[in-house]
Amino acid sequence: MSENKHPYREAYIANTRDHRIPEELLQMAEAQFSPEQVVDELIQYECEKTEEFEELVGMFNMGYQKMIHNMDIEPYEVGADKIHMIDTYALLQHHFEQVGAVDGKLGGFVHDGHMYLRDDLDFVSFLERYSHEFMHLVSKTKKVIEVFVNEQEWGAMYGTRYKTLRSGVHQISERDTGTVQYGAGLNEAITELFALQLRKHTNFPEDVDNETVADLQSNVTTYESHIEILREVLRKYAEVDIEDETVKSEMLRMHIKGDPTFLKRLHKAFRDNDMPEGIKVLFSMNSTLESVREVRAQLGITE
Ligand SMILES: [Zn+2]
Repeated sequence: MSENKHPYREAYIANTRDHRIPEELLQMAEAQFSPEQVVDELIQYECEKTEEFEELVGMFNMGYQKMIHNMDIEPYEVGADKIHMIDTYALLQHHFEQVGAVDGKLGGFVHDGHMYLRDDLDFVSFLERYSHEFMHLVSKTKKVIEVFVNEQEWGAMYGTRYKTLRSGVHQISERDTGTVQYGAGLNEAITELFALQLRKHTNFPEDVDNETVADLQSNVTTYESHIEILREVLRKYAEVDIEDETVKSEMLRMHIKGDPTFLKRLHKAFRDNDMPEGIKVLFSMNSTLESVREVRAQLGITE
């Protein structure tokens, strides 16, 4: 594919109205701005890519094209140059510095159009993590780069800072009271749901045994409770199954291109059931199990 720009990624310099920022600086930031940047601290710990690895990347790309076939979604191939196998210690350290928590299970993450995976995953975990992160990578994203000024006693210091505003249905906004996030848990549920679909559409190498392939193609591997609640919400309020092809394609178009059809369906279903705040409740779910339990109770979904 010649044109390999992500069709649903928005990235721009924030329209800063801070009059203290000199015009030349804004122009310089604009000129240097690239919609995709690798994480410099991590890239130096990247392992060499093997032929087998590149083959797997190709297989997942083919699986993805099959999956979105006839779905009004622009095709996109994730180049092997955007996927980085990183020394595990460096990856976890980076995550700790960014997020302030160590998650030993963290297999990888996506940042700015690139995927970073730890290098000590066994083959099956690699396929599981890859498919999950791949679905984050192709989802709709939005970010801004802000040029800021920081006045010190000895003069002003200028810099740029990066903000993600959206990743799939996960939305992040800055308020005076701090950062507010919506849809983090729902985004993970949808991401893993389609990671499973991606694995179903992917032809794995012949030397992977049948049992492993069957497992990879029939089970979700993470966020099971999040997926379950989405399944139950659809069943209870909209009276549809999550496996319904129309529902699946609406959900996928929401995840990848931000198409609101699926949300409208849910919103109507909640309203018809005297639950006008239903969408808000569902979007309040974060990635923890406690949050799933709370949301279940608020939506009246009992065990
Ligand atoms: Zn995830």
